[in-house]
Amino acid sequence: MCGIVGYVGRDAALPFLLEGLSALEYRGYDSAGVAVVDADGIAHVKQAGRLESLIGVVESLPGAAQCGIGHTRWATHGPPTDVNAHPHTDCHGRVAAVHNGIIENYQVLKRMLQDAGHQFVSDTDSEVIPHLLEHHYRGNLWDAVAATARDLEGAYAFLAVAADDPMTLVAVREASPLVIGLAERGTYVASDLTALVPYTRRALVLDNGEMAVIRADSVELRDMAGAAVVREPFPIDWDREQASRGGHPHFMLKEIKEQPDVWRATMAGRLGADGHVVRDQVGLTPEDLAAVEHVRVVAAGSAYHAGLMAAQLLERVAGIPATVEVASEFRYREAAIPAGTIVWAISQSGETLDTLAAVDLSQRRGLPVWAVTNVVGSTLARQADRVALNRAGPEVSVCSTKVYTSQIVLLTLWTLALAEARGRARPDLAAALQALPPAGAAWLAAPTGLDGIAGRLAQAPSVFYVGRGQDYLSALEGQLKFKEITYIHAEAYPAGELKHGTLALIEQDVPVVAVVSNPALVAKTRSNIMEVRARGGYVVGIVADELADGLADVLDHVIAVPTLAPDVMPILMALPMQLLAYETAKHLGVDIDKPRNLAKSVTVE
Ligand code: GLU
Repeated sequence: MCGIVGYVGRDAALPFLLEGLSALEYRGYDSAGVAVVDADGIAHVKQAGRLESLIGVVESLPGAAQCGIGHTRWATHGPPTDVNAHPHTDCHGRVAAVHNGIIENYQVLKRMLQDAGHQFVSDTDSEVIPHLLEHHYRGNLWDAVAATARDLEGAYAFLAVAADDPMTLVAVREASPLVIGLAERGTYVASDLTALVPYTRRALVLDNGEMAVIRADSVELRDMAGAAVVREPFPIDWDREQASRGGHPHFMLKEIKEQPDVWRATMAGRLGADGHVVRDQVGLTPEDLAAVEHVRVVAAGSAYHAGLMAAQLLERVAGIPATVEVASEFRYREAAIPAGTIVWAISQSGETLDTLAAVDLSQRRGLPVWAVTNVVGSTLARQADRVALNRAGPEVSVCSTKVYTSQIVLLTLWTLALAEARGRARPDLAAALQALPPAGAAWLAAPTGLDGIAGRLAQAPSVFYVGRGQDYLSALEGQLKFKEITYIHAEAYPAGELKHGTLALIEQDVPVVAVVSNPALVAKTRSNIMEVRARGGYVVGIVADELADGLADVLDHVIAVPTLAPDVMPILMALPMQLLAYETAKHLGVDIDKPRNLAKSVTVE
């Protein structure tokens, strides 16, 4: 996820490009770059690091140029270096483009273009765009963009300029956001409204599969087949802060809702239509896969819960023994680790101090470390022997949502690759993963079962979460979300374990959240729910919708999500659990994005 901006109009382009990028920096800050175009052609500057580092070098650009594009990057393909920064250009610097998203078929396209003589300079997927534009260019940027878009697979939005046509921008959108702002002084384009609000109050949203030819005083929309699209601009009534949260009251809610798109991005180009995992896209070689005899996961917080989920899946699906440890514990005990063990280290920021220390210790003991992190160029990404990136984009809310679920998606891809290498391919699991984004998006569009429950939970001194199997692991993550932002005591137990002590705490109206997604375990969990009800407990069921009817008589409140294969249900079940915590915290008026005593990236012991 990165931010792109563009301008063409009566004013100089650079001031907007820089200010717009600064508003979009929350979307990514690995590098920044701008290109402007005037009668002398295209000039660009770009640099690794935050936008500030660009300020000193933009002086070399023609300051009066009235058309340009800009980019702030959240790297997905290739490290955050100067050369990988956007804009990218064709071989002759006659076309430049900025891109947000992932081009899934870039390897095939790059090979084709290289065979045709194109010279590539970066490691990015994005660089195929300007070369394809050059390849298709017959004197009209619009046609070249249309032909290029037809070649691309994946999720993307891009903006392009051409030296031959210095007062025109062309924009394309396919699953990554893009809005166009209309004003007296020109036309503005950006990944979201955050960048546009100081300049205009009228905007047009580009829909998937559409392109726009943008000039100082006109915007022409078309679909990919070339048919004209007519759309009325809408008024913008957000301030900039609201706009950066996509109009949501909190980043947490925005990030919860982003999840289906994030899962798509996490899988993009990594899971073929045939269900095979593209090994090198998840950071692994065939030798890596053959070497794994045991896995030891080290992580902290929500990443630890994602690790628990992955370990259970790995044992079940690939038959590989796996154990999981809280990183701060692992580092201070003398763990006996069997030969053939690979350490999996999981950290959102890639800077979690305890996890890094566990990685260091493992490497000193000669154990290979594979890392999952959301931040390219982080200490963990640099230190690990193998790395796969979440591609979740920056997570602003302290309470992890989209990164947690994307960690499970990514670890499921590793599991699938390992299973396949052991002759246990699971095309059904690959298909279930692919079914997740639409199922999640459908549920989030109209989340049912949340009415009336937040007020009740907000009164409770304690909330218990129970489940069996991976539903217990979902419960662990659910209770952490809940206590983290509501400040209400919450605890999770394996449902069968309640009667070994904790049942003593269940009395009239004590809320118990029962997580039930696996039909194989539903009868057992049902009995445990009845034990709670017999003591007067108030049971909230978070359940797969196919199980809802069978449990209706033992639940006081039901939140049902679409039913998919049990192996991927924890990813979907996270959504209602996150929203339950969110709604309760909102009811209590807590500072949801910045809960007390907590920090986003834990770089202390
Ligand atoms: N895939 C592109 C890159 O790595 C764009 C990244 C993005 O949109 O986050 O440069």
